[in-house]
Amino acid sequence: MPDLPKPLPPPRRPDGKPVRPEDLEVIFPRSIVEQEFSQERYVDIPGELRETYLELGRPTPLLRARRLEEKLGTPARIYYKYEGAMPTGSHKINTAAAQAYYNALEGVERLTTETGAGQWGSALSLAAALYGLKLRVYMVRVSYEQKPYRRVLMETYGAEVVPSPSRLTEAGRRILEEDPSNPGSLGIAISEAVEDAASDPNAKYSLGSVLNHVLLHQTIIGEEALMQMRAIDMQPDYIVGCVGGGSNYAGLAYPFMREKLKGKLEAKFIAAEPRAVPSMTRGKVAYDYGDSAGLTPLIKMYTIGHRYIPPPIHAGGLRYHGLAPTLTVLVEERLVEPRAYLQTEVFNAAVMFARAEGIVPAPESAHAVKAVIDLALEAKKKGEERTILFNLSGHGLLDLKGYEDYLAGIMVNAEPEAIDLSYLPRIKG
Ligand SMILES: *Cc1c(COP(=O)(O)O)cnc(C)c1O
Repeated sequence: MPDLPKPLPPPRRPDGKPVRPEDLEVIFPRSIVEQEFSQERYVDIPGELRETYLELGRPTPLLRARRLEEKLGTPARIYYKYEGAMPTGSHKINTAAAQAYYNALEGVERLTTETGAGQWGSALSLAAALYGLKLRVYMVRVSYEQKPYRRVLMETYGAEVVPSPSRLTEAGRRILEEDPSNPGSLGIAISEAVEDAASDPNAKYSLGSVLNHVLLHQTIIGEEALMQMRAIDMQPDYIVGCVGGGSNYAGLAYPFMREKLKGKLEAKFIAAEPRAVPSMTRGKVAYDYGDSAGLTPLIKMYTIGHRYIPPPIHAGGLRYHGLAPTLTVLVEERLVEPRAYLQTEVFNAAVMFARAEGIVPAPESAHAVKAVIDLALEAKKKGEERTILFNLSGHGLLDLKGYEDYLAGIMVNAEPEAIDLSYLPRIKG
């Protein structure tokens, strides 16, 4: 935050007034709200949370993709931070554990959240179990019905999983009255989870990406990677990751970005997104709602509009219309270069990676793999040695349907023809 090249525009209410910390304390505990507004360069990890990270397997390994390098015949060195090594299979437990810790510390008894494909829901389910919190997860109904394994995982950790829209909230009941077979959406699930938390004094809401405090928690990835790269005397020339809301990429990249802005590192930063949900490459920077129902504060970010309905690509975690505000500033200032890919080219890269390295990437992480392979082939063409570091944000062992479709040759690509932003609220600042 203190190193950003320009100040971050504040979140605003629909009337244009900046959101105050008190406004957020209805749904978040005070320490999380403090972190959300914090301008500090470093925030210490409390001892008990550090212990949890150690017990869960941090630091995650920094690995070299040597067989992939050989297969590509590239002079580039490819390193990756493997967040799939964490329980529940992705980076999301890093912030889930932190949020559960701070909520428990402040006497909160119950958390609520939403989940689409279930990666965030499963991470928070484990975190809630570790800190003795109850958790209710509103899971988009189609996913609840079509993706039973993530639901079973959440229930195994002790969470209550409710298909959304549900009869437990006003928002859910209103929708079910109009359409009893409504398949649900992330926007509806957010509305339900927020309403649930706001109407119970012992409950708070928890979010898995986009917000400053989430990105802050994820920087443990990059702080570890900085030390791991130093230990082998390497400096990355490229820092690559995939972007949904931006948390895993920020997590790896921001500690290196801090070094770059201090003039101590010359790396280039590359962020990969789906061409089906092209917020960075085809969206614009504007104040927009964080959810599709228009209930959250307005955030200034790259957006393709909160009413945009993303095509059903397999990278469910990248189907988000917006982008973290800090990452928005860095892309605007051209400190981070966005690239967008079709899902067939992404899965092609993922299969190549799996056959070389053994790890089956999550469809989200496979976007980073695609960008890395392109960079490595470019290095080969130019005969240039370069060191590439990327975040393998998760494994894809619960996402094999995407691989099945790809291998059967029936995967389809989708991208929007036009993007309509005319309905966005007109807010200056
Ligand atoms: C959720 C998820 C993402 C996308 O979210 P970010 O906040 O952009 O990191 C990426 N990879 C995996 C494995 C995920 O589960």
